[in-house]
Amino acid sequence: MNSPQAPLGRIVIENCAVATVDARGTEYARGHVVVAGNRVEAVGDGPAPRDLPGVTRRIDAEGHLLTPGLVNTHHHFYQWITRGLAQNSNLFDWLVALYPTWARIDAELTHAAARGSLAALALSGCTTASDHHYVFPRDGGDCLGAEIEAAAELGVRFTACRGSMDLGRSRGGLPPDFAVESTEDALLATEEAIDRWHDASPDSMLRVAVAPCSPFSVTTDLLKEAAVLARRKGVRLHTHGSETVEEERFCIERFGLGPTDYLESTGWLGEDVWMAHCVHMSDSDIAAFARTGTGVAHCPSSNARLAAGTARVPAMLAAGVPVGLGVDGAASNESGELGTELRNAVLVARLGAGPEALTVRQALRLGTMGGARVLGRDRELGSIEPGKLADLVLWKVDGLLHASIADPVAALVLGAAAPITLSLVNGRPVVEDGHLVTADESAIAAHTRSAARRLAERG
Ligand SMILES: [Zn+2]
Repeated sequence: MNSPQAPLGRIVIENCAVATVDARGTEYARGHVVVAGNRVEAVGDGPAPRDLPGVTRRIDAEGHLLTPGLVNTHHHFYQWITRGLAQNSNLFDWLVALYPTWARIDAELTHAAARGSLAALALSGCTTASDHHYVFPRDGGDCLGAEIEAAAELGVRFTACRGSMDLGRSRGGLPPDFAVESTEDALLATEEAIDRWHDASPDSMLRVAVAPCSPFSVTTDLLKEAAVLARRKGVRLHTHGSETVEEERFCIERFGLGPTDYLESTGWLGEDVWMAHCVHMSDSDIAAFARTGTGVAHCPSSNARLAAGTARVPAMLAAGVPVGLGVDGAASNESGELGTELRNAVLVARLGAGPEALTVRQALRLGTMGGARVLGRDRELGSIEPGKLADLVLWKVDGLLHASIADPVAALVLGAAAPITLSLVNGRPVVEDGHLVTADESAIAAHTRSAARRLAERG
């Protein structure tokens, strides 16, 4: 079934290396892919058949690597306009420094920031993004709608996580009271967002998830009620978990439990749940994630920027935990690029667990199928297989920085950020020859610069 906005006809990409990231890790040194409408029709060795009808575009992709589009599993788009601040802080100090600025955002600024974040993602190979938005100032307008609009404009497939905070400082939480909502308001607005926007269809360009922010910024009631709401509506659950030693200490002092045990006690382990970070995980925490199918959004750059620690990704993968990659918010990862997280995931894993901790192909799998599974979309995304949605990235690996690297997957993962010749989302071009085709990059840059200035002036 073709979606209405997909182009008619076929796109053929051939004469390139193809890493399908299917269950067997099938690769072709010189293969082809045929896209029909918004889906992959065929993938295989050698050139595509010459007599295919309805071919609107045939790309000789000599010197390229074709992979599934990258899937980003954790972000905070609004932070694009609060980058470069609190440069030498750990998570709690960084949050306390930034909450007052964040509490002054509105829908217009969020829209500008989301366009910046989405542009950085798309230009680094991301075809499916998710965003965790949890700051909703009372008179700030429709911030979630603003980022949904931005994703539609740029043509990136999107999961909008309606976040929330209801535990202000006066009740023992970390955020200031003026930055939080009431429990009831948060739940009502989350349900409204699901009813208004969530599209459960397999071709969906927009899903909504339920996403209270973290154990130290939401009440136990909100966690429990959010889990009930998500399961009543059939949508996924997302939050932060086990990010830092300070969070672990907070949970033990307040609840008498570590973060994983606490979240489990509120109904927050399950195959419909994914959590960001999961850095401080014991063997039994990892076993609980594996047993319940709870997913992890691994954010290596952000964890390093905030000195949070090294997530035990090799142990999680060995136990069968679903793991995807995330850039995290741009205030703790100013780069905002997903492609480079492949490399950072390998480097961080090896610092923690040795040279065989994570291979380049495992890193590519984390960034594609792993992310698709974490977002509950592994049946339609994450690999290049007939019938899957046509979210593909064609990386140029024969230029100055990559031409002498023997293995194209190593060139992509370990080499410099590879230029993108073409990225397709739902069969439609989003990036061509290294530039967005759906938006004006210099206009986004100017818009985000002025938005950052306006937000700073509100301080
Ligand atoms: Zn985060």
